[in-house]
Amino acid sequence: MTPQKPRILTGDTPTGRLHLGHWVGSVENRVALQDEYDCSFLIANMHAFTTRADKPGEIRESTIEIVKDWLACGIDPERSNIVLQSEIPAIVELSWYFAMLIPFNRVMRNPTLKTEIDAKGLGDHYSFGFPLYAVGQCADILVFRPELVPVGEDQVAHIEMTREVARKFNQVYCNVDPQTEDADSVSAGGLFPIPVAKVGRIARLPGTDGVHKMSKSLGNAIYLTDTPKQVKKKMGQIFTGRQTMDEPGDITNSLFQYVRAFIKDESRVKELEQAYSKGDNIGDGHIKVEVAAAISELLAPIQERRARFEGKGGDDLIVDVIREGIRKSNPVAEETLELAKQAMKLDFAPRTISFS
Ligand code: ATP
Ligand code: MG
Repeated sequence: MTPQKPRILTGDTPTGRLHLGHWVGSVENRVALQDEYDCSFLIANMHAFTTRADKPGEIRESTIEIVKDWLACGIDPERSNIVLQSEIPAIVELSWYFAMLIPFNRVMRNPTLKTEIDAKGLGDHYSFGFPLYAVGQCADILVFRPELVPVGEDQVAHIEMTREVARKFNQVYCNVDPQTEDADSVSAGGLFPIPVAKVGRIARLPGTDGVHKMSKSLGNAIYLTDTPKQVKKKMGQIFTGRQTMDEPGDITNSLFQYVRAFIKDESRVKELEQAYSKGDNIGDGHIKVEVAAAISELLAPIQERRARFEGKGGDDLIVDVIREGIRKSNPVAEETLELAKQAMKLDFAPRTISFS
């Protein structure tokens, strides 16, 4: 079961559909790295319950929609592993052990959790499970013992915590010297490689509110399924604060982050940046229309591939893909759990696990 290729693990929470932030932050890299790496892509459906425990139907629907989005983007289930978190028991078991390797206050200081609590308006009434998801995410990742984790910038703090947990496990249970370089952790006897975050071409795409990152939970997203008309309308909502066409504009604003993310022709991007920063008779509305057209051009082939799963029987095809993923990923996850339990002197009774 030793992998031929280095491994990748990353994923999405089924709290909606995929948007442009997912594409530029992570999915584009996933599609590109499928041949070079042994890839596992995880649907974090248990984590969706941390903020939506009362909406199981929505979580199930979103799980199916996200897998449709993945396949539409070019993720190929023949080459990559689709992992449904709730059917990988080893993840839950490892989460429990990992929770003992990380101080409670360290989890609560995680800046991504703090931002999410603010942005999602969770106040002080979030569930106990909400911060626990950050520990669970360490297990999602480490159970596949990956070297690389393609994510957007907001996830880097989580990957940092994962790295800390991996180092700690290797030191406490595998006798790895704390001075060991991360890259040498496995050759020094550690069970877990110290995974590295690979941030996408655009680290953090702002939402159409121009304030928060584009996020499926915040209603500020352009979805991969949006029609050209919807894209144009949403682009039109981006606020820049600029009043007239001859007012010099700020090319670090949200609109220009979209210009650089989606207009492919570099010389056109330069031209727009120069004209805008000089206030050279160029209106925001004109630029928004141009960006909207570039986005719709990017989305057209994705939507064309997605159409296959949208008709009758489409959901059944996706459920088959999910089931096959469960069958393929559990042996890998169980192998890691068995090795972890051996290292922790918990290897009392070997077990096997089966799925129909
Ligand atoms: P939620 O609002 O429920 O947290 P989300 O839109 O943040 O959803 P996630 O499922 O949390 O999406 O994130 C999946 C992956 O996409 C992560 O790697 C994350 O970093 C990346 N990502 C999400 N939004 C953006 C964005 N706006 N820019 C770049 N990357 C992003
Ligand atoms: Mg998120």
